[in-house]
Amino acid sequence: MTSKEIRKKFLDYFATKGHSIVPSAPMVIKNDPTLMFTNAGMNQFKDIFLGNSTPKSKRAADSQKCLRVSGKHNDLEAVGHDGRHHTMFEMLGNWSFGDYFKDEAIDWAWELLTEVYGIDREKLYVTVFEGAAEDGTTLDEEAREAWRRHVPENHIILGNKHDNFWEMGDTGPCGPCSEIHIDLRGDAERAAVPGEKLVNTDDPLVIEIWNLVFMQYNRKADGSLEPLPNKNIDTGMGFERLCMVLQGKTSNYDTDVFSGIIREIENLSGHKYGASEKTDVAFRVIADHLRAIAFAIADGQLPSNVKAGYVIRRILRRAVRYGYTFLGFNEPFICRLVPTLVEEMGEAYPEIAAQQKLIENVIREEENAFLRTLDRGIRLMDDYMAKNASTKVIPGVDAFVLYDTYGFPIDLTGLIAEENGFSVDMDGFQVELGKQKERARNATANTFGDWTVYGEGDDVVFTGYDETVHERATLLRSRTVVEKKKEMLQLVFDATPFYGEMGGEVGDTGTAVSASGEEIKILNTIKENGLTVHVADRLPSDCSGPFTLRVDTARRQAVTANHTATHLLDNALRQVLGTHVEQKGSFVGPDYLRFDFSHFSKMTEEEIEKTEDLVNAMIRADYPLEETREATMDEAKEMGAIALFGEKYGDRVRMVKFGPSVELCGGCHAATTGRIGLFKIVSESAIAAGVRRIEAVTGAKAEGMVRVMQNTLRGIREMFNNVPDIQSAIAKALEQNSEMRKQVDEYARKAAAQTAEALKEKAEKVGDYSVIRFTMTQDPQAVREIATVISRITTDTVFAAAFEFGGRPNLVLAYSENLAAGGKNAGKDIREAARFIQGGGGGQPHLATAGGRDVSGLPAALDALIEIATK
Ligand code: ATP
Ligand code: MG
Repeated sequence: MTSKEIRKKFLDYFATKGHSIVPSAPMVIKNDPTLMFTNAGMNQFKDIFLGNSTPKSKRAADSQKCLRVSGKHNDLEAVGHDGRHHTMFEMLGNWSFGDYFKDEAIDWAWELLTEVYGIDREKLYVTVFEGAAEDGTTLDEEAREAWRRHVPENHIILGNKHDNFWEMGDTGPCGPCSEIHIDLRGDAERAAVPGEKLVNTDDPLVIEIWNLVFMQYNRKADGSLEPLPNKNIDTGMGFERLCMVLQGKTSNYDTDVFSGIIREIENLSGHKYGASEKTDVAFRVIADHLRAIAFAIADGQLPSNVKAGYVIRRILRRAVRYGYTFLGFNEPFICRLVPTLVEEMGEAYPEIAAQQKLIENVIREEENAFLRTLDRGIRLMDDYMAKNASTKVIPGVDAFVLYDTYGFPIDLTGLIAEENGFSVDMDGFQVELGKQKERARNATANTFGDWTVYGEGDDVVFTGYDETVHERATLLRSRTVVEKKKEMLQLVFDATPFYGEMGGEVGDTGTAVSASGEEIKILNTIKENGLTVHVADRLPSDCSGPFTLRVDTARRQAVTANHTATHLLDNALRQVLGTHVEQKGSFVGPDYLRFDFSHFSKMTEEEIEKTEDLVNAMIRADYPLEETREATMDEAKEMGAIALFGEKYGDRVRMVKFGPSVELCGGCHAATTGRIGLFKIVSESAIAAGVRRIEAVTGAKAEGMVRVMQNTLRGIREMFNNVPDIQSAIAKALEQNSEMRKQVDEYARKAAAQTAEALKEKAEKVGDYSVIRFTMTQDPQAVREIATVISRITTDTVFAAAFEFGGRPNLVLAYSENLAAGGKNAGKDIREAARFIQGGGGGQPHLATAGGRDVSGLPAALDALIEIATK
């Protein structure tokens, strides 16, 4: 069975059981403060499990792209070393939202595995939760009874809270789970040691393939459990592992999911997969990480220095590092694997086929940058080893600098050290790492209280497209959140005109006024798991309501002008640069807008002007907002609306049209384009290979900017007595200035030559040398000049200068050219004398300079200079 058939059979099976098949959500999560990447099939249904929204259908099934590289689920370090953990993988799942429960979930899982896929029953084992006293939970009898219908008693294994109790996070829906494991060992081994002894022991051939989660509790902030009103089923089966089982392999990398990529790595590297364990790990790391990086970029997450972008950067570096160390790649190579990946997965995931060029370019640039860092890091390693030649230990602090500043993986540092007979002080490194984590934790520590519920309701109504004041809102719930040591309150109302930060547009601010007239400030509005959450500085003293919710309209208007301008900009860019332009990110705030888009070269001045002109023309055309709130995806496409990759759309989409611009968008907009006023591009720059960024301002901000420019220009004109042609006046002034500089330099050179001649006459004899002492307060640069001349015009002469300038001590040492040629080295000699002024310096054999901190040491330094120089 091919992997494609395997995926299809899963979905088909659950379709016959009344499940609606839903698409995978994007792998990169944009609106959940607690999660950067989808790490399980259930993430996209989180708002349903939390009771924030009602499901469209009570049964669903899908194949979800997941990434387990950060937070609670992090498999990164295992990847490559075993054959069953990936960073990115597909999770097959079926869900019941308050519909069927344990019996059906277990019966169907069993039927699918044994009847549809034909897996040998003898090889399957299941686990059941044994209960946990501290939570007051007991053995999951229901699940055990259900399994007894299918498997013998010795294939049912009781598991503890660690393996058999699933939790989404520190709080929230959770419950016991039941895993299905398979024993892939040969008959002889199975006869010798029974499979049930090896379940959950990390045996590479007795592995978990499917986890059935029975969500029946809610974990509260105080750690206690309460039963959920609606019991849910959430299952997750690793697709790659299932393929391994059904294709008779013992490693995911031997299935058709990976074989094409592995073959291409063989082609590019000249190494064979299977030749040695060390190179095999590298093969697996690269094959795995390629997928993670490419899918993340396709979903809109570019590698960067912060948050999700940094996670992606680290994954890529890990792959580059393995390729560099074990497969001999010292040129970008991961980008060259992208075509193969697209060939293999582009059909199931069109987002990577459509963005192949962008993915290749971004990866190539990252690889190049990291290969340079690797080089620098390796040189730094040489320094560290030289410094610690006696102990043969690289201190933890240094290893940490390599890790933190140079992105140097610690295992690489260890490896290089080992190759050179050194070791790394790992304890010291861990201490540094711990300190850094502590710093990060303190900076971001958030604690969430439980929701206090005042009224029932979900699917909060957003009224902000039509009004900015909503009377009679009911407060549904509130909770306290401590963020950066500051306590805030989060409020949820049944209906609100406040826009929650989403799709690049900032959240609204404003006020909530209670029935008694008490006014609460709303500082921000965010979207969280489908809820619109108002952030306030305190709780109203009377929560019973009704409340009047009032958006800060001046701010909102500035935001909507910028949002609408962003759409017009998108449209104009496609006209000016071509239809390859695709949105890669945006920020829409009250003060400015930012638009990132795919385009491969810097925009020319003309292109920028043309874009500006087009946008301003569309503004003057004063197109009205034409809004369709409930379009189907097909209707939207027909109208020419463009869907973004990495964006999650529902069945119904909102379409926003202004003249020629049509976009799918949930944001707030100006009533007509004329409201935008003036549009002005402030900057155009690169943020990654093939991704450009435009920042622009509109309305009053644009006018303000024009005024500042005008005032600056006026000021400059005044400095030049308001000459009519200011440009040539400035050019002339600059020219005169450089002419005068030349003359000054000329005089300085002449003066230096004269001084040198005069000093030469005053030289005193010390042994075989003529020595010139110099102690006048002087600009060090001028003394250098003099020293240079002296070294040229004298023979057997030492010029030794020790003098103060600007309160600091300086040394200059020069040798006649014949002395330097004969082996004297001023650069080396000056360093010894510099100790007397608590400083350092260096230079060339004939001329060197030093600076320091201690002026009182100058006489001693001069004596030392002469003594060393005449030795
Ligand atoms: P394991 O103990 O093997 O790490 P898990 O307990 O972390 O698995 P779950 O969180 O229950 O797994 O995820 C459900 C299923 O997803 C697992 O049964 C497995 O088939 C698959 N899976 C989990 N993690 C990975 C991974 N890193 N790569 C590939 N498949 C995975
Ligand atoms: Mg795991």
